[in-house]
Amino acid sequence: METMQSRSTPQSIEDLALIDDEWSVTDVVRRAMEGTENPRLRTVMAALVRHLHEFLREVRPTDEEFELGLEFIAALGHATHATNNEVVLAADVLGLSTLVTTMNNSTAGGGRTPGALLGPFYRANAPRYQCGDCVVQDDAPGLPLFVSGTVRATDGTPLRGATVEVWQASPVGLYDNQDPNQPDRNLRGLFQTDAEGGYHFRTVRPAGYPVPTNGPVGELLAAQFRHPYRPAHIHFIVAAPGYRTLVTQVFADDSDILETDVTFGVHRQLVGRFQQVEAGRSPWGDIPAPFYTLAFDFTLEPGVQTFPRPPID
Ligand code: FE
Repeated sequence: METMQSRSTPQSIEDLALIDDEWSVTDVVRRAMEGTENPRLRTVMAALVRHLHEFLREVRPTDEEFELGLEFIAALGHATHATNNEVVLAADVLGLSTLVTTMNNSTAGGGRTPGALLGPFYRANAPRYQCGDCVVQDDAPGLPLFVSGTVRATDGTPLRGATVEVWQASPVGLYDNQDPNQPDRNLRGLFQTDAEGGYHFRTVRPAGYPVPTNGPVGELLAAQFRHPYRPAHIHFIVAAPGYRTLVTQVFADDSDILETDVTFGVHRQLVGRFQQVEAGRSPWGDIPAPFYTLAFDFTLEPGVQTFPRPPID
């Protein structure tokens, strides 16, 4: 690194890399960052500055608009605290989170089940259940839902002993940690697949729910005439040693907001058939109709088994 020193001879201002016009700003900033030692940081920051400058040249904000934009970003930070992460929420409603998840979970060629966002409601220490058990710990009203399927590898082999972890919102659209009326870890459970790779459990049909709207993201959604809801879904983490862990969600096919999920999570292959049964008894547990069934299989690709860090306790 050069040290700064006073010059005895006057330098030629003409030869210096200074600001001449809106384009030279980008050049000067790029040069200032060229010494970045970490190659990944250098690449990321160069692209970020290039795209942000291009964005500003495209929208040509007034000074007031630029301030408004900066205030919005600052407000995301101010609205972030122990129980709300407004920055993550902003990334979600702009499709950034789903874009990254989709890029990092390519299904091209392999046939693996697509991934979806972990979301803010994943908690550790889900109750362990036997297949066929019910994850509902209260007697709140709602139609029973019988979920079943098979976990396979991309070569078709059924995976015995795979773990299938589930969590979902209640019939009124609240997770246990949001709702003082629900027992702790209600509608959460950890299952293991049987010798044929099968899993099955009973739950209650979940409802869709809104993302928080009392912060700057809520104001943005209102200005865009967007509803804040996610379609009804069940979260899954499917894992087995020697396979890449699948973090995903399965959506109810009869939801009328699949196309407008506020966080853009609905991959076409993740829409599950929530079949309403009006007569007869449940496939197990001998529960009388009406109830719903959902059959959904998962496919894991070989890789490293990892587990996500719970964003909340
Ligand atoms: Fe969710």
